[in-house]
Amino acid sequence: MKKIPIGISSCLLGENVRFDGGHKCDAYIVGTLAEYFEFRPFCPEVAIGLGVPRPTLHLVKKEGTIHCVGIKDPDHDVTERLRAYADQQKSSHEELCGYILKKESPSCGMERVKIFANGQPRREGVGIYAAEMMLNNPLLPVEEEGRLGDAGLRENFIQRVYVLYRWKQLLANGLTPQSLTTFHARHKLIIMSHADYRDLGQLLAGISKENLASVAGQYIVQLMALLKTVVNRASHVNVLQHIQGYLKKELGADDKAELCELIERYRNGEIPLIVPLTLLKHHFRKSPDSYIENSYYMSPYPQELRLINQL
Ligand code: SF4
Repeated sequence: MKKIPIGISSCLLGENVRFDGGHKCDAYIVGTLAEYFEFRPFCPEVAIGLGVPRPTLHLVKKEGTIHCVGIKDPDHDVTERLRAYADQQKSSHEELCGYILKKESPSCGMERVKIFANGQPRREGVGIYAAEMMLNNPLLPVEEEGRLGDAGLRENFIQRVYVLYRWKQLLANGLTPQSLTTFHARHKLIIMSHADYRDLGQLLAGISKENLASVAGQYIVQLMALLKTVVNRASHVNVLQHIQGYLKKELGADDKAELCELIERYRNGEIPLIVPLTLLKHHFRKSPDSYIENSYYMSPYPQELRLINQL
């Protein structure tokens, strides 16, 4: 499989672009994710010509609007230049399937960046470049390196990346009513773990060649929005039990009891999701079902990423 293009704050890859000439290399990103993702680095502060090393910046609130200015020289305002750089990179960003940002940066931070007003900081800001980039690319999965340390957030981000990647492949291969319906069918169980998949199904009910572009546009906006919800155990249990229903006639009493017990143990937090899922896969190898076999819920991303081992 081709590596998936992901934008990233350059300093997270170990590039010495920070204000102090250093970097913030992230071991999980360069060690694990780099096996699957082709990272495309962006350092907005260097790109607008601030140099390395450079005076430090922060966000301030002035007359109701947020500015990115020098800490020592408040007249050094780079807000518009950072915004303009994000706009210049719009076409490069459109090629991406995800973006990993450096937390707390007044340029790159995704959330909770300090904003100073009357000398007091409040953690309620977004980096200027990051805000503009996200505004320009509302479908793009975006996450910060710090939050990738959380198993649920990490899995959620990577799952959204793979869904958007498959969507881009679908478009590249030529979208048809049939291919969109198949895409939905293969993602139904993933959608079910996040929300009621019937809403998106209804959107596709009246699909035709004439309204294809408009329906597809609405579909992907709704899909990427609902996937932002981090799935809890109860929702996964719901999907596991739904999948189990496809084995109703195939499983004997002992196998059924074993599966039910593992699902309950998963619900109670005693075992990770991989355990009941592996047993289900084992049963479907013996009793194949094309709907389940083709469902991305069973294999949403390479298993070597070991994401569901920690859910
Ligand atoms: S946080 Fe963003 S602006 Fe700052 S060094 Fe890293 S890539 Fe550059």
